[in-house]
Amino acid sequence: MTTPAAILREVFGYSEFRGTQRAIVDHICAGGDALVLMPTGGGKSLCYQLPAIVRQRRGQGVSVVVSPLIALMHDQVSALGELGVAAAFLNSTLDAAAARGIERELLAGDLTLLYAAPERILTPRFLTLLDTLYARGQLALFAIDEAHCVSQWGHDFREDYLGLGVLHERYAGVPRVALTATADQHTRRDMLARLQLESARLFVTSFDRPNIRYTIVEKLDPRRQLLRFIRSDHPGEAGIVYCQSRRKVEETAAWLAEEGLTALPYHAGLEAGVRRQHQDRFLREEGVVMVATIAFGMGIDKPDVRFVAHLDLPRNIESYYQETGRAGRDGAPADAWMSYGLADVVNQRRMIDESEAGEEFKGLQRTKLAALLALAEAHACRRVRLLDYFGEDSTACGNCDNCLVPPATWDATQAARQALSGIYRFQQQRGQRFGAGHLIDVLRGKLTDKVTQYGHQQLSTFNVGADVSEAQWRLVLRQLVALGHIRAEGEFNTLGLGESAREVLRGEVPVRLRVAEVRTGRRGASRAKTKTSDPSGHPDKALDRATNARLAALKEWRAATARGRNVPAYVVFHDATLLEMARAAPTTRAALGAITGVGVKKLEAYGEELLQVLA
Ligand code: ADP
Ligand code: ZN
Repeated sequence: MTTPAAILREVFGYSEFRGTQRAIVDHICAGGDALVLMPTGGGKSLCYQLPAIVRQRRGQGVSVVVSPLIALMHDQVSALGELGVAAAFLNSTLDAAAARGIERELLAGDLTLLYAAPERILTPRFLTLLDTLYARGQLALFAIDEAHCVSQWGHDFREDYLGLGVLHERYAGVPRVALTATADQHTRRDMLARLQLESARLFVTSFDRPNIRYTIVEKLDPRRQLLRFIRSDHPGEAGIVYCQSRRKVEETAAWLAEEGLTALPYHAGLEAGVRRQHQDRFLREEGVVMVATIAFGMGIDKPDVRFVAHLDLPRNIESYYQETGRAGRDGAPADAWMSYGLADVVNQRRMIDESEAGEEFKGLQRTKLAALLALAEAHACRRVRLLDYFGEDSTACGNCDNCLVPPATWDATQAARQALSGIYRFQQQRGQRFGAGHLIDVLRGKLTDKVTQYGHQQLSTFNVGADVSEAQWRLVLRQLVALGHIRAEGEFNTLGLGESAREVLRGEVPVRLRVAEVRTGRRGASRAKTKTSDPSGHPDKALDRATNARLAALKEWRAATARGRNVPAYVVFHDATLLEMARAAPTTRAALGAITGVGVKKLEAYGEELLQVLA
């Protein structure tokens, strides 16, 4: 059988294509070029793996997958092996003998898919191999994964990707598909031009990830807030916590571990062996929390990551979306949680201002930061804003913090003007500048030592804003910094007026803010309540006892099997597949084979054992 639908069922065990997968697969099987833009977790791999199988069965030879990520190659090749698909990789982890073995298989026509890093593909030795296959008509397809790496605008630029244009020139007529989860216009243009895909068909999938719930909280006591979030919403589940600095990664991981979680650090400063060990544990054990810098995550396609938390602001919306997209690839409910405060805004602005980059690049970074801040400050649906950023229209989602608990807002126009004139008055006094704390003390009429030392109780702005709480003032200042009306500078983050401050001072710009949260944890309680009444909550809580017992037995079997085969548990079966088995409790091979995720090969390998476990 060589029809895509038959192979989807037979090999992958899936009964339906997701979204645009079918159109993409058909187009590539027919020999067309494609650029595929799909969010993380959308199901990109299948878009080239399935055509590779179809084309191999039709006698068209091997498909070559270009991937920058060694860990990913490894996982995909094991997963394909489990599905009974002949796949291999060539990368620096193989010794010369092993690499030659793979080359022989390649030439013998024994492989359906070969994964290789771009630098490997561009070597004369490898190109000669490809020449031979091409001459025999045995080059079925090139798939270029993480295609945004070809663009300098993206954050993952790889020099070697620039050389991939050669594939088109040297192997004319071999279809090529480039795939990425990064979709901004700049990057898209670069990909089309540099990979010479101008005439490729463009497939843009909705970027919505409906199973991910977005929440952005006010940063008060971030670690404790994080711990409370994990304990109440994701106890014992796998997640990723992103921090900006290596030190913070270490400290946060150590602290979470002290609090009884299985938390591990990951950053580029750790020894390679330690990194690999932590990554392996994250992939193979259940319920590991990885505390990491952005060095971690690309190429991690663990499907059951239940949450991604940001303790610091990501660089821009693309990064935020890519990082949060690592949650819930299996389609089950997952959380994207972030804590956000004034210092985040100040730091990000400073990092851009003080970087060595050119003015054009800085300008772009500032625009991107502004979009991210607007998301963080939003009172309305987060998802609508996110999708709008990627050029998609949508309506309020009902599955983000703002939809679930609409925030109270107040008219802060007057307060904003008071804050700006406070800064203005400081500057009038010999051009002096002060930080946010002192400004708030002055506005609230507090007679601190510093206030009296500088005689600031004499200023006309002293005590004009005593009715606004300190927490509200922080929000006002943050908003003003976020919008660029205030600039925070120097070692002590002293405040100065931005160019646009004048309009706000004149009252021409209305400022509406959410009411500041107070340190009571009330928010956590209200979230927990919405969760239990929410049908998209955790499935296992609602299961009857027999189903739960079956699920537990299946998980135990899976853990043992995965250990025995030395692969991550999800390579054996996904959670969703085990859950469907536990619910349906099939008693025959045929019924078992009808479960989503059970293909022919896995039925053969595990069918008898599974029926026994279920019995
Ligand atoms: P991406 O590479 O786009 O981030 P993946 O290719 O890793 O996403 O796919 C995400 C998950 O969705 C994987 O676990 C995959 O097995 C699953 N998946 C993909 N296509 C389908 C489908 N048609 N039906 C069911 N599950 C699918
Ligand atoms: Zn929403």
